[in-house]
This record gives sequence, structure tokens and C-alpha cells, in this order.
Amino acid sequence: MSPVIPIKAAASGCTDVVPLVQRGQREVFCGLTGIIWLHRKIQDAFFLVVGSRTCAHLIQSAAGVMIFAEPRFGTAIIDERDLAGLADVHEELDRVVSQLLTRRPDIRLLFLVGSCPSEVIKLDLSRAAERQNRLHHPAVRVLNYSGSGIETTFTQGEDACLAALVPTLPAATSVAAAALTHDAQAAEKSLLVVGTLADVVEDQLRHLLQKMGLNVSFFPPRNSQAMPAVGPNTRFLLAQPFLADTARALQSRGAKALSAPFPLGVEGTTAWLQAAATEFGVSPERFEQAIAAPRQRAEKALAVQREMLQGQRIFFFPDSQLEIPLARFVHRELGMTLVEVGTPYLHRQHMAAELAWLPAGTRISEGQDVDLQLERCLADAPDMVVCGLGLANPLEAQGLTTKWAIELVFTPIQGYEQAADLAGLFSRPLKRRLKLAA
Ligand code: SF4
Repeated sequence: MSPVIPIKAAASGCTDVVPLVQRGQREVFCGLTGIIWLHRKIQDAFFLVVGSRTCAHLIQSAAGVMIFAEPRFGTAIIDERDLAGLADVHEELDRVVSQLLTRRPDIRLLFLVGSCPSEVIKLDLSRAAERQNRLHHPAVRVLNYSGSGIETTFTQGEDACLAALVPTLPAATSVAAAALTHDAQAAEKSLLVVGTLADVVEDQLRHLLQKMGLNVSFFPPRNSQAMPAVGPNTRFLLAQPFLADTARALQSRGAKALSAPFPLGVEGTTAWLQAAATEFGVSPERFEQAIAAPRQRAEKALAVQREMLQGQRIFFFPDSQLEIPLARFVHRELGMTLVEVGTPYLHRQHMAAELAWLPAGTRISEGQDVDLQLERCLADAPDMVVCGLGLANPLEAQGLTTKWAIELVFTPIQGYEQAADLAGLFSRPLKRRLKLAA
């Protein structure tokens, strides 16, 4: 028998929710932003944005830090001559890539990242990537994806990047299923965790899964030479909620998704680990033994934060697609009241376990008409607003307390050891507001 995860709210929660769908002007970063965390993760990769000076400024300012070492991203600027069709952009791009690869022989994986300008001039980056592959094979693999603001919101950049990588993953070798007993088949199954996680979080989750006797691979890996194999015996757990295309690409390679909430907070982490344990037949005793100590530590640390946050009313603008799991966490584990939970897209299948854990009747909105949403927010006067950088200052000027959504993506927040840090990201702005008011 598997240990049961307690579900405090009604089991169906928001499962059948009809979201408030709005399609108007939206305030959200483009998919180029994902380069910031992706380039830190895959350490022999380089992200070459084929874009404008605006794109170059965006990633540099989103990186938000002085870059002392040579960064693993850059921009091939499309200038007026290219836009006017006076230059052969493909030739220029070939030249830039050759220069880059000569100067940086450590690069093993090169992404050509599309942008609004490259889309506007209809630059075919998949053709460019194929050509570069022929030129630089086998030293470097060249792939392309789009981070354009026309097509993507900011966490979709990671989805597009990983989805582009999936077809290049090695095939998992398997003995013909017919020749295997049921147990042997189970033994051959492999676990893949999908979504960029900070190295520290990856190490902790690997350690917990290993304590249960499970071997696990992570995608993306830290090095492009260590890409995980994938095939019909792969079972994957999403670590990030914004990877719909990646999940689809993995499924087309035969891999099967394990349904679980996301590993945010104590409950989310426990249920996420439980999904793997159940699939791989880990005994309840062994599962409990593996998680007991870190879970207890996290519960204790959360209790302190809960005192500050209990009963505070929170409003989420749509930004990173982390909003629904975060809302579930702040409501169930910190006692906060959900005023509105906005999400850029509502992927019901990946969100099924999360929606079931939200209190019935939660106002969930999908997409955005920013003016209307601002009106709702001001009328509701919540204690805290989670929103993009562009909305934070105007809302603060109206007397509201804000939290930048982007910080929740850049900070390691998954797993037991990070649960209290995650809660701290919500309590800090309130403390600051109290201090200012004192
Ligand atoms: Fe701006 Fe588009 Fe470049 Fe993103 S891709 S920085 S939205 S021009």
C-alpha cells in the first residue's frame, strides 16, 4: 500500500474551473529570458540570439549581473541593411558563427535563437542550423528555436529550447519487451526529471531519489555530452510547469509522463517524489525513511513563515506559468487567501493535480487584458501582488506590495530545503512594507 498524501481541500478543488479568459494587451517578457538560466545550466552550450540591439539589451539586463567571465550567450545583430534586404543575412550569420566557434573552442552545443526581428524578415533559422551543422560537424551540434516575443512568453523559451533538443537525445536501448518478465520490464524503466533546476536542487532531489533506490537522469543535463537516453521505458516527471511542448516531444519518443503536482513546498515535493516512488514500486517504509528528515526540517521552517503570511490576500498576474503551483503552495501551506490566480496558459493536463488542490471557487484567469486586470487588482486591494517588473512600480505607487514574478523563476525554490526560502520570497516584501510604515 502506498502512503497517502493528505488532501486538505475538497478532492476536486478547481478541477472543473472555467477560467476567466482574456486576450488583450499583455505585459510579459519574451522567451529570450530563458537564456539566463539555461546558459548557466548547460555549461558547454552557447545561445546566439539572432536579433536586434533591443534583444541584446534585454538579456544583458535580465542577467542583472556584471559578467566577468566570457558569457555563454550573445547576439548576432540584424541591422538596417539586413532588414532592408541589402545584405545576405545567411552569409553574415555563417561568418559570425565561424568567428564565435574559432574564438570559443569549448562550445559543443550552439543554439541559434530566433527573435521578433528574425521572424519579421522570415529568416529560416532551421535551414541556417542545418547548414552550420554540416560546416562544424562533429565538433559542435547546432540547433535552433524561437524566443521571439511574438510567439513566446518568458518561460516558453525554455520549453522551445528543450523541445528542440528532444529529437537529438540518444535512444534508450531496450531488450525486446516480449522477452521480459513483468519484473524485468519494471527494472528496466528509467526515471527522467525534466526542466532546468539549479544544481543545488538537482543534487538534493537526486540524493532523495537515490535513497529510495532510484536512478535518475536530469534534462537538461549540466553538459551537452551527457544527454539522457529516452525511449518507451522512460518515465518522466516535470520539474517545471511550463514544458508542454517538451513533454509532447518526449511522448512522441515513447516516454510516459508521471502525473504529479510540482515540487514546490513540502506537500508538492512529497507528492512529486511519491509519483516516482509509486511508479517504481518503492515500499512505503523506504519512501518514508528517505523523506522523513528533510520533510520535518522543512515543515518546521515553514511554520515560522506561516505566522507572518497567514490570512494575507494575494493576487497573481500571469507571467511565468508557475502561478498555479505557487498559489496552491501559499494557500495550503502558508494560509494565504487567493484573490486571483492569473496564468498565461492553462494546461489542464499538466495542472490536473495542482487544480485539484486549489480551493473550489478560486478566481483563475488565463491570458491577459492588462488594463482590465489592473482594474480588478486595484478594486480588490490585495495585501500582495505577484507581477512582472513593468507593473510592479506603478502598483507600488498605488500603495500595493509587490513581488517580482521573475525572481521566483531565477531563485532555487524546488524541494524541501528550499520550501522556507520560497515562503521567504513572499514574506520579505510584507516585512519591508511594515518597516516603511513604522
Ligand atoms: Fe523584444 Fe522581440 Fe527581441 Fe524579445 S525577441 S527582446 S520582444 S524584439
